[in-house]
Amino acid sequence: MTLSTADLRQKFKDYFQSHGHQPVASSSLVPADDPTLLFTNAGMNQFKDTFLGAEKRSYTRAVSSQRCVRAGGKHNDLENVGYTARHHTFFEMLGNFSFGDYFKKEAIEFAWNFLTKEIGLPKEKLLVTVYSEDEEAFDIWENHIGVPKEKIIRISTSDNFWSMGDTGPCGPCSEIFYDHGAHIWGGPPGTPEEDGDRFIEIWNLVFMQYNKQADGTMEALPKPSIDTGMGLERISAILQNVHSNYEIDLFQNLIQAAATIVGSEDLENKSLRVIADHIRSCSFLICDGVMPSNEGRGYVLRRIIRRAVRHGYQLGASDIFFYKLASALSKEMGEAYPELVDQLPVVEKVLRVEEEQFSKTLARGMAMLNDTLETLEGDTIPGDVVFKLYDTYGFPTDLTNDVAREHDLKIDVEGFESAMQAQRARAQQASNFGADYNNTLTIDHATSFTGYSDVEGEANIV
Ligand code: ATP
Ligand code: MG
Ligand code: MG
Ligand code: MG
Repeated sequence: MTLSTADLRQKFKDYFQSHGHQPVASSSLVPADDPTLLFTNAGMNQFKDTFLGAEKRSYTRAVSSQRCVRAGGKHNDLENVGYTARHHTFFEMLGNFSFGDYFKKEAIEFAWNFLTKEIGLPKEKLLVTVYSEDEEAFDIWENHIGVPKEKIIRISTSDNFWSMGDTGPCGPCSEIFYDHGAHIWGGPPGTPEEDGDRFIEIWNLVFMQYNKQADGTMEALPKPSIDTGMGLERISAILQNVHSNYEIDLFQNLIQAAATIVGSEDLENKSLRVIADHIRSCSFLICDGVMPSNEGRGYVLRRIIRRAVRHGYQLGASDIFFYKLASALSKEMGEAYPELVDQLPVVEKVLRVEEEQFSKTLARGMAMLNDTLETLEGDTIPGDVVFKLYDTYGFPTDLTNDVAREHDLKIDVEGFESAMQAQRARAQQASNFGADYNNTLTIDHATSFTGYSDVEGEANIV
């Protein structure tokens, strides 16, 4: 079966709706009332209080397609983008949920039936994992569903035991993997080769059945619940008979648009994939009200934009380009997310201002970095170079690290930190003398960029 990504999203919702699930709209990427979470990173986020019993809803089954960003915090896939076939900074998570309604057996049945009957995946290409102590799940997969024993892999690590926090609801998971074939490197979960992309995890089923107490004991929840998450782009790749998420319809269109804009002909180029990925996270974050800034969420956004701009430079883009891709994205996803169309002028403006700012220093920073690379001895870019790139040219350290990685090099993080400390000490000394020029200097190095003054002011939208 070949389905467009948009049709697949709809099919998932229809299937679960026909089984009594209430369709619930995706929540914002900026989590409501949850300062512990940088960005919404899973479908269950918006139901946290419902799972905890603090919020009652008029339904006990729900289905959603949740926009997610994993580019910081506990889940950070930024470094995977461009390197694996399956990771994005922004993706959509399809999920079905039971709030004290059905449990393990039905959740497994729903998932299996959706995959093998509804969208017709061949059973023999699927394998599953269970938490090593979860005999119940093993038994359901083996005896109820009929998955051969050797395709049910027991995993003892926390990968297969989910918890909301140090205390509270938690429980074992069962993940469903798809085998893309022996021609692709990688091994099944639990093997040393599992880092590869041959076996790709498509769906995670979480069985919330305990309430973890402060002393570590596990109390059985009176009404166990279900939380599941399946990556839309991953399942789409399978249905479109391609291996990488970046080969699906949606991404191919974005990659083509990016190639046209920067004047590149090499559609396989990794930088195009990174740019296509980044335009999604950046546009959606701006639509959800995040503005580039020097700290917190805004700084993550700024870092992603700068990475994208650097990749464009790498491809030889002769002018600012990134903002032009926002309209291609709104064409691609605007039907499902009308805000991409409504807010297009805002998104374009924010991106353009950011890009213009960074372009002023990018070429000079890259020239300095390239000089360093040419004369470098050893495999580490010195901390003072990383610091100068950061401080003078606006290169976030992850961007420098991205370049380093392309040359099989590392960056000297410790050296960078001590250069940072030294600058702080100087700033402190200066302020002791009553100088006030540091007013615009943010010195929280974890989330700050100190190269320009008042960039935020310029990013204001009219
Ligand atoms: P992986 O092990 O491949 O990194 P995960 O175990 O971190 O995935 P979960 O937290 O279980 O992922 O999220 C549920 C589902 O969301 C995954 O099974 C996958 O299909 C999808 N998913 C997770 N992270 C990403 C990502 N960065 N890009 C695209 N899809 C993702
Ligand atoms: Mg992951
Ligand atoms: Mg996983
Ligand atoms: Mg998982």
